Amino acid sequence: MATPLEQFRMTIGGKAVEALSGRTFESQNPYTGRPWAVVPDGGPEDVDTAVAAARAAFEGEWGAQTGFARAALLRRLGDLVGENAERLARLEVNDSGKLYREMIGQLTGIGTWFHYYAGLADKIEGRQIPAGNPNYLVYTRREPVGVVAAITPWNSPLLLMTWKLAPALAAGCTVVVKPSEHAPASTLAFAELVEQAGFPPGVVNVVTGLSREVGAALAGHPGVDKVAFTGSTATGRAVAAAAAENINKVTLELGGKSPQIVFPDADLQAAANGLVAGVFAATGQTCMAGSRLIVHADVHDELVRLVAERAARIRLGDPNDPGTEMGPVANRPQYEKVLSYLETARAEGATIAYGGSADEGLGGLFVRPTVLTGVSADSTVVREEVFGPVLAALTFTDEDEALKLANDTPYGLAGAVWTKDVHRAHRVAARLRAGTVWINAYRVVSPAVPFGGYGASGLGRENGVAGLDEYLENKSVWVELSGGTRDPFTLG
Ligand code: NAD
Repeated sequence: MATPLEQFRMTIGGKAVEALSGRTFESQNPYTGRPWAVVPDGGPEDVDTAVAAARAAFEGEWGAQTGFARAALLRRLGDLVGENAERLARLEVNDSGKLYREMIGQLTGIGTWFHYYAGLADKIEGRQIPAGNPNYLVYTRREPVGVVAAITPWNSPLLLMTWKLAPALAAGCTVVVKPSEHAPASTLAFAELVEQAGFPPGVVNVVTGLSREVGAALAGHPGVDKVAFTGSTATGRAVAAAAAENINKVTLELGGKSPQIVFPDADLQAAANGLVAGVFAATGQTCMAGSRLIVHADVHDELVRLVAERAARIRLGDPNDPGTEMGPVANRPQYEKVLSYLETARAEGATIAYGGSADEGLGGLFVRPTVLTGVSADSTVVREEVFGPVLAALTFTDEDEALKLANDTPYGLAGAVWTKDVHRAHRVAARLRAGTVWINAYRVVSPAVPFGGYGASGLGRENGVAGLDEYLENKSVWVELSGGTRDPFTLG
């Protein structure tokens, strides 16, 4: 007998609800290729209800809470996420085919984000500013921006939601979350924990829908004050335009084509390991994928050999199996996109040092880890984000050339420098046009460290104190001290 599909409901105004239309859609498991969950198929009318609930909460009980009270709730929520990490991780594995071993790591870590921002919630301070005129006392207040629309992608749905939700709640905002139609379940389950933690109704709302119109309706909603988006650069452009129409604030965490520069003095074993972590972990489906290898010509062959050797030993398979190192691609459109990039690379003359094709023997949507050489700075696979397990290698002969190649991209999310020369390491890190640079490391993040992109990789920062600032307004208050009057026809 077939296992019954798991049922999920949206959370709006503190209630578990179906879509107003009553419609649902099925979420697919990319490993089994079968549906496993039933999710409400919301529409713009559900977005209206959720935004109204968020507005009511902002103007009601939640808006009146102190930073100390918000901190206590955030701490409880962080604890609850930790206690429920296993269930939430399983939901993400079912929805996206990502490895259980990666998702359980993420889910046990997510509590730290809520705890970190709990630590900031009661320390949101304005300043007293000497304004130059002794007749005035001037101070600033940091106030929450209001109702936030949080729109998230299918890779790491809860981690990327948390990067928005934790600072937004610490600041005192209310939130409507719209997870991806490809991986909605964990966000719906997470909303139940928000209730359990004791947040007032309407502070966190979740709307799901199969149509991309749902995200568009939320991004352009006149009742929203700020849009926080993670996803592709193309959608980010549409989100920014919708936010601009309402003169709304916006943060965008978009795509990348991050370079890993390897100098000839680098520890090549460590660099090979970093390249594997950068582009094959998470099946390459990470915004910070280090998908361009920029390697000194003297060590190109040796490094490519090391990476290809490790790639050949990567265990593809069931994402729930703790021994698996690479799961399937998360959904069919993405799978087809990755394969079409491999075809293009071949047509443009790339050499396949390893991989280069689907692995159909495994049943699911598997693509073999792929290392491409013989590409040039204008090859499609070097210029465009593949969002799959595909590494393209370019060579250089001096530092300036390495930096020129590394910065020759519209993106600027992340990058790495591999060298033992401390002078060169910092010099190159400073000249890389990217929001994050790792030196002799790759794919490390922390709630305390700002993350975000230059150029087409985004706007604003998530994480750290910089991440909290994105959810706060600055209000200046002028207090007249003399009790007198002044010339009303001049600017004071
Ligand atoms: P996507 O842009 O297709 O979708 C992201 C979200 O936007 C989904 O919830 C989707 O339903 C919604 N959406 C679709 N059309 C919309 C519209 N017109 N207005 C508002 N919302 C809309 O991205 P995806 O395919 O889910 O995710 C993969 C992409 O995300 C990759 O390009 C990757 O680089 C990027 N990403 C970036 C980061 C980062 O932090 N920079 C992290 C993860 C993923």
